[in-house]
Amino acid sequence: MKSPNTEPENSKKKNEKKTKSMKKTNSTRPSDFIRDIIEEDLSTNKYEGRVHTRFPPEPNGYLHIGHAKSICLNFGLAADYGGFCNLRFDDTNPTKEQAEYVESIIEDVRWLGFDWEERLFFASDYYDKLYQYAVQLIKDGKAYVDSLSADEIREYRGTLTQPGRESPHRNRSVEENLNLFERMRAGEFEDGAHVLRAKIDMASGNLNLRDPVMYRILHATHHRTGDKWCIYPMYDFAHGQSDSIEGITHSICTLEFEDHRPLYDWFLDQLNIHHPQQIEFARLNLSHTVLSKRKLLQLVEEGYVKGWDDPRMPTISGLRRRGYTPEAIRNFCERIGVAKRDSIVDIALLEHCLREDLNKKAMRVMAVLRPLRVVIDNYPEDQTEELEAINNPEDVSMGTRKVPFSRVLFIEQDDFREVPPKKFFRLAPGQEVRLKHAYIIRCERVVKDEKTGEVVELHASFDPETKSGGAKAGRKVKATLHWVSSAHSLEAEVRLYDHLFLKANPDDVEEGSDFKANLNPNSLEILTSCKVEPNLAGAKPGNKYQFLRLGYFCVDSDTSDEKLVFNRTVSLYDPWAKIEKEQLSRSGAPRS
Ligand code: ATP
Ligand code: MG
Repeated sequence: MKSPNTEPENSKKKNEKKTKSMKKTNSTRPSDFIRDIIEEDLSTNKYEGRVHTRFPPEPNGYLHIGHAKSICLNFGLAADYGGFCNLRFDDTNPTKEQAEYVESIIEDVRWLGFDWEERLFFASDYYDKLYQYAVQLIKDGKAYVDSLSADEIREYRGTLTQPGRESPHRNRSVEENLNLFERMRAGEFEDGAHVLRAKIDMASGNLNLRDPVMYRILHATHHRTGDKWCIYPMYDFAHGQSDSIEGITHSICTLEFEDHRPLYDWFLDQLNIHHPQQIEFARLNLSHTVLSKRKLLQLVEEGYVKGWDDPRMPTISGLRRRGYTPEAIRNFCERIGVAKRDSIVDIALLEHCLREDLNKKAMRVMAVLRPLRVVIDNYPEDQTEELEAINNPEDVSMGTRKVPFSRVLFIEQDDFREVPPKKFFRLAPGQEVRLKHAYIIRCERVVKDEKTGEVVELHASFDPETKSGGAKAGRKVKATLHWVSSAHSLEAEVRLYDHLFLKANPDDVEEGSDFKANLNPNSLEILTSCKVEPNLAGAKPGNKYQFLRLGYFCVDSDTSDEKLVFNRTVSLYDPWAKIEKEQLSRSGAPRS
C-alpha cells in the first residue's frame, strides 16, 4: 500500500515547517544521505510523518563493532526523529542459530545503551503470516514449487553474461503448486526435494530476480519454533515482509543488499502491503581485524582466541572485556558517519575515542609491570608515609587517595638504563628523577647478578626537601617515574594486547592461504609478576584505571580473591617510543 497523499495543502505546509524547525533545533545532529532521505520523506509526509527503523541481527554469532555502527545508526535515527527502533532477530536459518547468540545480542545492544522497549521481535514470530503470503503468491500465479536439485537450480540460473533457463516445473498449475507446498509443510519430503520459487524473470539482468527461492525444506529444530516447521523462508522472502508487518518506514542495510532491493520491492508490491524504503550504506571495515561472523567463529572454534569475548576480538563482548566503554563506541560510530562507499577505518581512531573517554573517567593509580627493586638507603627502614595522590586531574570531583611510600620500592625496568642514550632523562647512575607524588631520588649504585650481569637492584638516595606538594617541592628534574612500595604492593597478572592481525587488511594474503596467515603471533603477552598499589585490593571486574604512564587497564573477569588480573585496554601515547624509533631509523639499526 502506498501511503496516499490525500492531505490538505495547509497541513502539508505545517509539516514542512515542523521539519524545518526540527532541523534547526538539532543543529548538532549529523547530516548524511540517510538523514537527507528521511527529511525528504518527512517533508512529503510519506509514512504519515513516521520514522520507524529496526536492527535485524541474525542470531548466528556474537555482535561486532560493525554491528555497533548499524545499531547506533538505527536507534540514533529513531531518537533523532522522535520515532521507534525495533530489535528483530532474523532467525530463518535454524541450522546456524542458537539461543546463546540471542541472549548475547540482547545483552550487547542493551550495554551499548539502546532500548527497544517492548519491541523485541523475531522473524520466526511471522512464520504463519509468511506462509500465508507465500500461498497468496502461488494463488496469484507468482510463485511455484520447483523440483530441480540445488545444483540444477544453480546451473539453470545462468550467469551475469548468460540468461537463465526456465525450470521444467515453472508452469505447474496453481492447484498442483498449492498441493505440493502444503505437503512440503506437512513434512512429506526430504530436505532439498522441492523449493518454492518466485516466478519473476529468468532472463533478468539482476540474478536475484531469476526466480529466487522463497522457501526450502529443512528438517531442523528451530531455537524458538522447535519442530513446528520443516520449511523455512529464505532471507529475501522473510526480511521485507517482516519489515512490512512491523510498520518499518526505513529499512537500512549494508551495500551488499543493493542488488536485492528490486526483489525486496517486488515481493511487497505483489503482496500489496505496507512498503518500507530499503536504504543501503557502506559497512564498517576496521583495520587489523576482521568483521565477519563467519571468520570470527573460525577464530573461536579453531582456538586462535579464547572465545567470543576474548579481549582481542572486535566483538562487543570482547571490547567490553577489554575495557571499552559504550560511550567510546557510540562516539566512534558517530565520528565515522555513514557513507555509500566502502572504506577501511583505521583502528587507531577507535582507540583514540576510547582514550578520550577513559581520560575523563579512569582513576589514576600506580602499577609496575616489569619491576626493578630500588632501595633508598637514606630513608628510615621502619618508616612508611601515606602520600596524598590525586585520583584524576581531569576531574577533581574524583578526589584523592593515600599511597604508601617506604624504603624499598619498585620502578619499571624500562625506566632505568645503566648507559643512558642521548635524551634518556629517566633513571641512570648519578641521574635524578622525581617519584610521582613523592620525592626526588638519585641513583647511587647498581647491583647486578653475578652470573648474568643483569641489573637486579638499584640503590638510591632521596632528598627529603623535595616532597611533592611540600614547601621546597619546586626543584626541577627532567622525568617523573611511577613506582610502588614493595612492602605494600599487591601482585597482579597483566595481559597486554596487540592487534589481532599484522596487516591492516587481514584478507591481503598470497594465493592459497587465508586471513589466518596474517594473525599476529604476539597479540597477547602475559606478565605474571606485576606490582600494583594497595588501593587496588578488592577491585571488581570491569573497573577501569589509568596506570600512570602506562595506559588504561581494566580488571578482567578472571580475577578472583587469590589473583588480580588486568587487561591493558589501550596504551598511552609514549613520546619516548617515537624518539627511539626515529633515532633507530636514522641510524638504520634494526628495530628490537
Ligand atoms: P557478518 O557479515 O558479520 O556475518 P551479517 O551482516 O551477516 O554480518 P547480521 O546479523 O545479518 O550480520 O547483521 C545485522 C545488521 O548489522 C544488518 O543490518 C547488517 O547489515 C549490519 N551489519 C553487519 N555487519 C556490519 C558492518 N560491518 N558494518 C555495518 N553494519 C553491519
Ligand atoms: Mg546478514
